[in-house]
Amino acid sequence: MAETSIIIIGAGLAGLSTGCYGQMNAYKTKIFELQNKPGGVCVSWKRNGYSFDYAAHNIFGVSTKPTGSLYNQVWQELGALKGTRAYVFDEFVQVEDTDGKVFTVYSDIDKLERHMKELSPADAKLIEGFTKTIRKLSGKDVLGSMSGGIGAKLKMLPLMGSLMKYSKINLKEYAQNFSDPFLKKAIPTIQYDIEEVPVIVPIVFISTLSVGDAGWPIGGSAAFSHNIEKRYIELGGEVHYNSKVTKIIVENDVAKGVQLEDGSEHFADLVISAADGYSTIFGMLNEKYINQFIRSYYQSYSKTQSFGLEIWYGVNRSFSDEPHAMVLFLEQPIKVEGEEKGRLDIEILNFDPTLSPQGKTVIKVNFESTYDYWKELSANQERYRAQKQEIADEVAERLEKRFPGFKKQIEAVDVATPVTVEHWTGGFRGFAQPWPPNEELAKEINKNGVSKTLPGLQNFYMVGQWAGGTYGISTVCLMGRDLIRELCKKDDKPFKVTIA
Ligand SMILES: Cc1cc2nc3c(=O)[nH]c(=O)nc-3n(C[C@H](O)[C@H](O)[C@H](O)COP(=O)(O)OP(=O)(O)OC[C@H]3O[C@@H](n4cnc5c(N)ncnc54)[C@H](O)[C@@H]3O)c2cc1C
Repeated sequence: MAETSIIIIGAGLAGLSTGCYGQMNAYKTKIFELQNKPGGVCVSWKRNGYSFDYAAHNIFGVSTKPTGSLYNQVWQELGALKGTRAYVFDEFVQVEDTDGKVFTVYSDIDKLERHMKELSPADAKLIEGFTKTIRKLSGKDVLGSMSGGIGAKLKMLPLMGSLMKYSKINLKEYAQNFSDPFLKKAIPTIQYDIEEVPVIVPIVFISTLSVGDAGWPIGGSAAFSHNIEKRYIELGGEVHYNSKVTKIIVENDVAKGVQLEDGSEHFADLVISAADGYSTIFGMLNEKYINQFIRSYYQSYSKTQSFGLEIWYGVNRSFSDEPHAMVLFLEQPIKVEGEEKGRLDIEILNFDPTLSPQGKTVIKVNFESTYDYWKELSANQERYRAQKQEIADEVAERLEKRFPGFKKQIEAVDVATPVTVEHWTGGFRGFAQPWPPNEELAKEINKNGVSKTLPGLQNFYMVGQWAGGTYGISTVCLMGRDLIRELCKKDDKPFKVTIA
């Protein structure tokens, strides 16, 4: 029987993962990517000898020793860490107040409990509840169980009470239970600017860090993405860069292939879009295969987006003894996009020697951002660039206070806005990841994602953060694996995986 051929749109991690598992299962796959390199938003680029990394920070499943977690297995299958290793953080983040008070969210659970109790003896009971849950979850494949079969889900039954309790409350609400004013202020900030995130999210992060199964892949996003691309090519896959898909060719409501910007047409038995959802559904398919749910999803985007504005500095300084992630409360708020911000969320990437010359460090500062603000400015490139420079200068001014001498040590600077993401990956309104939906849509998305298939269109699938309405390096790669497993089931053949 002839191999089923598949065209995949997009060589982000979801597209590459789908390609790898497709090849492992005797599908003949071909990827078209608009950019000139793999990874989508999971990329980095060079500036004056420094590597500025867009996405990776904490990735699940990265232990180089097999841990039995599903994500760890996926990285072995995709060869994502081949020739590299992961750096496991001793802390999740460190929060510093203006008076020098410090709250360190240690990965070592006993140390974290002691430290929190020292900060606030009166909150001992609350702290014990928090750390007890982290202990309970550590070594358990919570994330894998969500995607695994019934067996994996049954294993989680004894943990359901804790999982539910901390899923129903967000960091901002939870912090109010503490009597200590500093913990009250610090706790909402531990997961970047997403204070509405359920407490279970940092709990899962800390519990996974505590057993060494989350961290940073040395080489960062670029190494990670290139490794998966290499695996794809070794498995016989074909990837075409600088190849923007403009149209999905459909005949009688069956997807037949794609048309590229240069006018060329390419045909396959199945088409899978791992590209931005809006441009796929509203652009390449011209809104023909859509329902009210998908339409409402794309109408319900939030005005602001987490990590939408990122500033990198290449700095001639080692920053030894500093944590890898720091929340720095400011004495005087800083104005960003016309809004006052009371703190900086900083990443200090000195633990990865591949990112900067010896003794030097990449520093990254993230802010929530508004697409409309930058889109309007970008109509005048000079003003747009000047505004980016102004923000980078103001942030550097604040960093100078915490790290005297900082400004003079800067050797490279770059700033990415939502418009940058729109330009590079076509991400709708510059969203580098889908937005948190409202409660009504969230229920449906948790069950079926946003658009894994489209109503009325045959031989077509979507995969990745846009299709799932959820994000994460591990999550989107697993989605590729799940899709190919589903196709194998449809084709009545066993789903096979191999280790790289
Ligand atoms: C700032 C930031 C920090 C993050 N930090 C983490 C983290 O620490 N840990 C973690 O697990 N996750 C993190 N994430 C999330 C994670 O990086 C993403 O969810 C994931 O990489 C998305 O992969 P994707 O393949 O679904 O989408 P994308 O990366 O958006 O890939 C889509 C691809 O399709 C291509 N494409 C689009 N249109 C076309 C077209 N017309 N023709 C051809 N190709 C097209 C794009 O160029 C792109 O390559 C972070 C994300 C961001 C933005």
